[in-house]
Amino acid sequence: MSEKQLSKLFGLENSHQIDVYIEQDGYRAVKKALSELTPETILDLVKAANLRGRGGAGFPAGIKWGFVPKGVDKPKYLCVNADEGEPGTIKDRYLMTNVPHLLLEGIIITCYCVGIHVAYIYIRGEYEMVAQRLEQAIAEAHAQGYLGNNILESGFDLEVYVHRGAGAYICGEETALLESLEGKRGNPRLKPPFPASIGLFQCPTVINNVETLANVPSIILKGAGWFCQQGLPKDGGTRLFGVSGMVQKPGVYELPTGSNLRDLIFQHAGGMKEGKRLKAVIPGGMSSPVLKADEIDIPLDGDSLMEAKSMLGSGAVIVIDEETSMLDVLKIITDFYSHESCGQCTPCRVGNPWIRKIVHRLCQGIGGPDDIDNVRRLADNIMGKTLCPLGDAAAMPILSLTEKFREELITSLNERRQES
Ligand code: SF4
Repeated sequence: MSEKQLSKLFGLENSHQIDVYIEQDGYRAVKKALSELTPETILDLVKAANLRGRGGAGFPAGIKWGFVPKGVDKPKYLCVNADEGEPGTIKDRYLMTNVPHLLLEGIIITCYCVGIHVAYIYIRGEYEMVAQRLEQAIAEAHAQGYLGNNILESGFDLEVYVHRGAGAYICGEETALLESLEGKRGNPRLKPPFPASIGLFQCPTVINNVETLANVPSIILKGAGWFCQQGLPKDGGTRLFGVSGMVQKPGVYELPTGSNLRDLIFQHAGGMKEGKRLKAVIPGGMSSPVLKADEIDIPLDGDSLMEAKSMLGSGAVIVIDEETSMLDVLKIITDFYSHESCGQCTPCRVGNPWIRKIVHRLCQGIGGPDDIDNVRRLADNIMGKTLCPLGDAAAMPILSLTEKFREELITSLNERRQES
């Protein structure tokens, strides 16, 4: 039986305030880490827990921390990716709004483990209220000795700053985030070098998602074995799933990794709205390939969704009902990615607006089935051929949707042609 760790204080009055958080055992993990554990022990614990990143790529956090070189004569930084720009993704907003101190605890322990003394929380500009709440939490933590110099008389110093982005999806890509944080246009960098060795201000940098770091305190308090038992051995812990679209109870649900997607939609999120039938599910944010209604009996973990040729991504589950036109869904997807391309590489800069143009014509009833093939060909020429993952993020949902719903797209086109 899994225990809720991330969302257990959601709904508790004033759970964002430090006194309430401490009453609920908050900051116990920081006290334990700083007084009883060495940085090496913490690194071993997080590696043994196999905490995988919750931002989309699913890379193990402990391994990422281990890449940061030791003994270099440069400062090191932690950048918390709170950009949350993937359409459908809402979980980090809930976490930061309800339990900002849980994130701060994760940040303090991570920085102590890696030897970092400055951390930035990079948050999207639209999350103004959340940014204010984080700033309030940082001030409270300072006042009670959990941040600043000589934290809890351990000799460890740490400052945390909130940095607001200007609302670009691409700044959720880790190297674009670094550029933006340095005050430049948020263009992704070529990799290698990777941020662990050359990151923010050319210094070694760890970049982790909000939810990833919020899992660290429970690993410290309850151990790696306990964490692994909460989910699957290869992908431990619980995850926050943000369910949106045509369900009775959209919201954020904390479930063990490996929970069934059908159960998430039909039990936790209350099933379909107005008794409509399910048509499709986008399981991991808009960039993940779509699943048809008969493909949702599947465990929610990275490996299982990869086997189904989709992705767990950011855990954002978008539910589409029988009355939603997949041509309109395609239009939303192409509008978004074409707008968010940073323009650095040709396949993405040219290909996405070209796809968008064709899809807009199809929506007006102009074109023929060949245009769906043209869209697929263009998406195929973006896939795997760009500088950063936005190219694939745009191409993957277009390729899956045009393959799985080709007949519906043609029917929709014909109907619109008759209407126009
Ligand atoms: Fe920019 Fe798109 Fe190239 Fe990424 S793939 S670097 S967003 S143009």
